[in-house]
Amino acid sequence: MSQQVVGILITHWHLDHIEGASKLLKACSNAKLYLSGALFTREALQIASLYKKDVFAETDKDIREFGEIIQFLHETEDRNRIVPVKTRHTFFDYRETIPTRLIALSPSDVAVTQSISKLAQFAKKPGDQRIRTVVPESENLNAVAVHFSFGSFSALVGSDLEETGNVQTGWSAIFEDNIINELSLSASSLFKVPHHGSETGHHDRIWEDLLIEKPLSMTTPFSRCDLPTPKNIERLKQLSSNLLIARDPRARNRIKRDNMVERELRSIAIARKSINDKMGHIRVRVSDKGAFDISVNQNVVKF
Ligand SMILES: [Zn+2]
Repeated sequence: MSQQVVGILITHWHLDHIEGASKLLKACSNAKLYLSGALFTREALQIASLYKKDVFAETDKDIREFGEIIQFLHETEDRNRIVPVKTRHTFFDYRETIPTRLIALSPSDVAVTQSISKLAQFAKKPGDQRIRTVVPESENLNAVAVHFSFGSFSALVGSDLEETGNVQTGWSAIFEDNIINELSLSASSLFKVPHHGSETGHHDRIWEDLLIEKPLSMTTPFSRCDLPTPKNIERLKQLSSNLLIARDPRARNRIKRDNMVERELRSIAIARKSINDKMGHIRVRVSDKGAFDISVNQNVVKF
């Protein structure tokens, strides 16, 4: 089975999107590794080379994961497996029987350039000890959103692509660049909502030009940033026929503890919340008439 995998896409360099990728790459020896444009550069590789995977270290996991990938490709002398991706990249385009196509909508050229210069700022300077927050939050600038089509069905997978306030990057760049007409992209009925449902991942024209009215939407929560917020969920519910979230993002009721334990906990932590860390799983099958067959495990919540 693993030998049938032809490609692995790393949309951007954040742990919630990269963890486990090195294992996958090793197991799927026929798969090419598709990387967001700015990552196959001297700047990114230099940072990656700073860390090796260390089972005892919990820090810098995203850098270590990427470093592990680069190390593996270096050892196997298989650099040809890496394919950098930017807007308009065609992963495949089969025209026989049922037309099937996968196309990257981002990052734009400007986003790639900006990402590279941001990564360059993290290059090790003489006297530096170690880099802690090597992967800037702005890495989402570099995220790869894709459009998949199979016959009349299509899906929009938004990755963590965000709006940036610059029309040459983020979702705006897709609309400013007129990619939809140029590549004849059909309106999608299935939508992986970008950036965990956040406001910054929203653009009206995604819903007007890239999606059908009321698509089936889904996303994953991001506990560290409390995403999606109740407001985000409300917006997505209004715009979608159904909204599926891979785990319940709402904080659970506080666990009742002994008073002494409570007092002790309060003295060491200013704010506490329970994090639901159970992994959700959503599977959507589409019939030839376009109907969805959705199956989920018990951690998924429907709105
Ligand atoms: Zn993310």
